[in-house]
Amino acid sequence: MSDCPDLHLMVDGVLTGEELASAHAHLDVCPQCKGQYEAILSLKRCLGQLPEPADCQKPWKACIDRLNEIDKAKRIDGFIGKYAWGICGAFLALIVLAGVHNRALGPSNVSAGQVAQMASSLMPVSSSRVSNPNSIQQFMNESVGNAPLAYNTSQPRAVSGARGVFYGHPIVQLRFVDDKGSFVLLVIGGTDGLEGFDPISVGNRYQGSQMASVNCIGWADRGFALFVMGDRSLADLCKIAESVRIRE
Ligand SMILES: [Zn+2]
Repeated sequence: MSDCPDLHLMVDGVLTGEELASAHAHLDVCPQCKGQYEAILSLKRCLGQLPEPADCQKPWKACIDRLNEIDKAKRIDGFIGKYAWGICGAFLALIVLAGVHNRALGPSNVSAGQVAQMASSLMPVSSSRVSNPNSIQQFMNESVGNAPLAYNTSQPRAVSGARGVFYGHPIVQLRFVDDKGSFVLLVIGGTDGLEGFDPISVGNRYQGSQMASVNCIGWADRGFALFVMGDRSLADLCKIAESVRIRE
């Protein structure tokens, strides 16, 4: 939670009045803070007893155990928080992939089981790998090869990525954020040509479609199939494509 109070200031009596009241109110709704608050309190109590020859071993150990538990809970929470968007993006990408498979890569239908298989193959990567132009270039080269994309834009900014293999084709999915929200760029290596998309007239380069009620445009370039999808108009998606593709 972003509005968690500074528990040490609470325990040390620095917070007063309204601040203290709202901090206490927060403890009622945030079990993590409440647990941590209690642990800090007992730690303080424990430290207060130190000058006396009292046996602090047991409460001390209880403090340490509690703090370790909190750390563990935080790590798990942090992982889910960090990858939640990537996981959502990955699912959107998978629905589109199922459609792309039918339309661009082969005539066979993709079953629910195959989609589940794709889901397990698409692994999220650390956001630090895609958040700057140098590391994103390296990540793309390692994952799908030299895709015809320019990464020198600071806007839009990639915030998460995932990669996997789709019927023998290496794939990368990147989620970007700009002032209109987020969109997903999907890159499939080792393929060429898209079929079954409705042609849309932006220089005859892009083909558009709606998949999973989200607009998607695709284009083929130098052995790659590339897609941009998001909750915005096809024209807006084409603008994005223009800003990320490398021109001949
Ligand atoms: Zn909290």
